[in-house]
Amino acid sequence: MTKAKAKASAKKIKKEKKISKKKSRKTKMAKDNNRKTFPTSASVDEKKEIKTEDLILMQSPRGMHDILPGDQPYWNQIRRSLNHAFLEYGFQRIDTPILEYSNLFVRSIGKGTDIIDKEMYTFVTKGRDDVALRPEFTASIARAYIQHGMNILHKPVKLFSTGAVYRYDRPQEGRYREHRQANFDILGEQDPILDAQLIQLAGRVLRGLGIKNVQFQINSIGCPECRKEYLELLVSYFESKRNKLCHNCKKRLETNPLRILDCKEDKCMQVSAGAPQSIDHLCDECRVHFKHLLEYLDELEVSYVINSRLVRGLNYYTKTVFEIWSTGEGKKYSLGGGGRYDKLIETLGGESTPAIGFALGLDRLVMEMKRTKVKLYKETKPRIFLAQLGELAKKKSLKLFSDLERSGILTAESFGRGSLRSQLRTANRLGVDIALIIGQKEALDETVIVKNMSSGTQETVSREKLVALIKKILKNNNVVSVKPKK
Ligand SMILES: [Zn+2]
Ligand SMILES: [Zn+2]
Repeated sequence: MTKAKAKASAKKIKKEKKISKKKSRKTKMAKDNNRKTFPTSASVDEKKEIKTEDLILMQSPRGMHDILPGDQPYWNQIRRSLNHAFLEYGFQRIDTPILEYSNLFVRSIGKGTDIIDKEMYTFVTKGRDDVALRPEFTASIARAYIQHGMNILHKPVKLFSTGAVYRYDRPQEGRYREHRQANFDILGEQDPILDAQLIQLAGRVLRGLGIKNVQFQINSIGCPECRKEYLELLVSYFESKRNKLCHNCKKRLETNPLRILDCKEDKCMQVSAGAPQSIDHLCDECRVHFKHLLEYLDELEVSYVINSRLVRGLNYYTKTVFEIWSTGEGKKYSLGGGGRYDKLIETLGGESTPAIGFALGLDRLVMEMKRTKVKLYKETKPRIFLAQLGELAKKKSLKLFSDLERSGILTAESFGRGSLRSQLRTANRLGVDIALIIGQKEALDETVIVKNMSSGTQETVSREKLVALIKKILKNNNVVSVKPKK
């Protein structure tokens, strides 16, 4: 072995040892945390001798998380609320790839923004395409709009999309590198009535989730024309206070001075408090647009505050920008936000198409739903349990299960279990109304024992009469079976 090679392999072993140490600590933690609910694959691993060369960290990548079955009721509530809202407001769903060519995002979101400068997951494919995991939806929606000639559709074109977005950010509470968003865009109309309706829609979705206390923050950052003048004023103001700004903001003064307004550093916030405000420097068109938006919101009785420091971190925004904030105790979170992007389609090579959109951060919504203890929609639970004893009975139950399902009767089972007693224990735990039991005799006679779990009484019925009987019992117990599938 050459010296260099030996050194490299020593380094590798050291690294692997480190990982292995880290791993055993983590698997132990996982074991302790999850013992009650989930057996972990790691606990099985530990007994085997670990070969370091095929070591896999039993952990999701940093800043990315699994959504376990226990959390799915929250997500189901979100899916349900979104599905209602987008249909009610006349949106159509669109799904775009998670990957796009990187320059689409660079052109849309713009250099000098945190997303483009620091947070994009970019890589070169085997075919040497420079691609990026989408950090947001709007650029992809705009690309799809142009690519598929949607400009010929009846306007406005209302598009809904949902899925994961990726930002290489420092993970912290409520902020993930992979998180999920729901995105609503309206293209082809510049009337502020749509800005108002979109804000109302955001409120509608949140209420559908049971999140009642939120604050809408609104601002107008003008169009390229009036913003040019405003930016000059802003830059000269910040120049005069340059030494009071943080290191990042000194850089932003050159690259993206608007962003200084939403810097969270204390000293920058103090400087920003005295800065000129965009709404005082709007051109006539932008001022009228903003005024009408506020009138519409008043009409809708949507309560809002005007936040003159709200600019959003993306360069494509024009006129209206808004954010939705939690208002409860403790740390406040932005639950979503959006704004108008009247020039984006044109910038990307399409015809001039005014547009507006917003996104909700779904992982944040789940956090907020948990924090405010919202009432969750109750999933339909099976009221019937199917138990079997013996080989033939097992075979018959498999068929019966599918027949019941086709009749619209939701049924639970534990086919893998042999003993009748353990099956009935499961039935008890599930709190079903009826247990159906098939033994050797019933299997041969084409009958089923129907046991009423609350009264304890039981009777033997023929297979033909079973469905009618079950429906009768469930009705008497004031339980409705699920609707039969057509
Ligand atoms: Zn303007
Ligand atoms: Zn700053």
